[in-house]
Amino acid sequence: MVDKLLAALGVPSQVYHGGPHIVHSPIDGSQIGAVALDTPEQVTEKISRAQAAFEQWRQVPAPRRGELVRLLGEVLRKNKQALGELVSWEAGKITQEGQGEVQEMIDICDFAVGLSRQLYGLTIASERPGHHMRETWHPLGVVGVISAFNFPVAVWSWNTALALVAGNAVIWKPSEKTPLTALACQALFEQALTMFGDAPADLSQVSVGGRDAGQALVDDARVALVSATGSTRMGREVGPRVAARFGRTILELGGNNAMILAPSADLDLAVRGILFSAVGTAGQRCTTLRRLIAHESVHDEIVTRLKAAYDKVRIGHPLQGNLVGPLIDKQSYDAMQDALTRAREQGARVFGGERVQVEGCADAYYVSPAIVEVDAQIDVVKHETFAPILYVMRYRSLDEAIALNNDVPQGLSSCIFTTDVREAERFQSATGSDCGIANVNIGTSGAEIGGAFGGEKETGGGRESGSDAWKGYMRRQTNTVNYSRELPLAQGITFD
Ligand code: NAD
Repeated sequence: MVDKLLAALGVPSQVYHGGPHIVHSPIDGSQIGAVALDTPEQVTEKISRAQAAFEQWRQVPAPRRGELVRLLGEVLRKNKQALGELVSWEAGKITQEGQGEVQEMIDICDFAVGLSRQLYGLTIASERPGHHMRETWHPLGVVGVISAFNFPVAVWSWNTALALVAGNAVIWKPSEKTPLTALACQALFEQALTMFGDAPADLSQVSVGGRDAGQALVDDARVALVSATGSTRMGREVGPRVAARFGRTILELGGNNAMILAPSADLDLAVRGILFSAVGTAGQRCTTLRRLIAHESVHDEIVTRLKAAYDKVRIGHPLQGNLVGPLIDKQSYDAMQDALTRAREQGARVFGGERVQVEGCADAYYVSPAIVEVDAQIDVVKHETFAPILYVMRYRSLDEAIALNNDVPQGLSSCIFTTDVREAERFQSATGSDCGIANVNIGTSGAEIGGAFGGEKETGGGRESGSDAWKGYMRRQTNTVNYSRELPLAQGITFD
């Protein structure tokens, strides 16, 4: 099946057969590919080619650069079904989510096409007579993209669509767990490149490799921006290394996202919001709901309703109409069991969390999502365990709830379910949630591409996707022009 999908997407078979790195499907543990890994030297060669491509591409007018991204969006539209299915095979996402991830790629292409005519700078009033000031935005250089397994294609497109209209070249190092979807994206990109005609050949390259390949990107001064998505552990290694050479980073790291459930909340809505955010993608989204902070007046009712809903969630093969697919691998399963054991040891009450056997998938790791009732925000709750564990705790006052929301090292996504406008506004105010995303009556996951995406604290501080995130992919220049016959100095200084 995977071979057929890869062939349909235009990936030459020698690229995914015969290499030393074996790719397994989380669906059933079967081997679905064997790929070669780039050495650091090969990455360095790719950077040289990317630099040459950048030097040409930056001269192409931005709206024309947008045309390439428009074509990429068209190619993605035509191949949405196949690419989405490949995402399911390689990352274990259910059909809806695999297709949704490709839709996100199409959406960001549309956004970037519009942006290619809107890379606006300011005109600024000059204090000197006969002068004007303005800001211009210029292409930055080579952009290195390092991505995680759980959004194997969308993260590349968020970065690449913006980087290309900004006039940059891209090298992508995908997760070693999901190289096949990356090779498919590269093949689709090359189709768009052929349709476009005269773009430099190495404008966007993929480098399948491990950490050493990632580090070659991180350490090369020609890579002007490293946009890295993954664990906080990875960000701790990447951030300082890029900073040491004064490079730029966009870090999109782990989250530990909470919902505050207020006394006035619409509980029917909340149950649906919690299910999608906590259980969707088998808890393997950076924005997965991991903590439910429920007012004492609604706590018991929501726990009862959630347990009933969790019991009905269909777990199984992600391409066969189920709602929860597998964890990515055994390591992930072990991390989940370890967190549940630690929670039990600290007095928590655990519901669910067991391994689920799925017919024909003995070598895969399916689990029932867990609800863990805790009396306080104990140590294990403050860590991101990349699995479907929802910790539930009580609060009495909104101040206490906001303090709990903020009392973790991560700062990605958060939400409040309330029908009280004062509570909603307070949550989104300067004294409310400290996260990059703060929603009202919407769960923590499932962001639209139109907004800037990212989080604070150990989530890394980066912003991708919509709003003015494009500025991260360009360099700003302040221009002052003197059109007079005098040379007045700023601040009224005379120097005669
Ligand atoms: P990971 O950190 O293990 O790997 C991510 C990528 O970083 C991989 O491509 C890996 O090869 C590379 N990498 C690891 N160490 C490196 C190093 N020292 N130098 C260069 N590259 C290195 O993460 P994962 O398990 O693939 O993904 C799950 C994590 O990603 C979770 O923590 C999740 O929250 C996070 N994530 C965050 C976002 C976000 O936007 N904030 C989005 C998706 C995933």
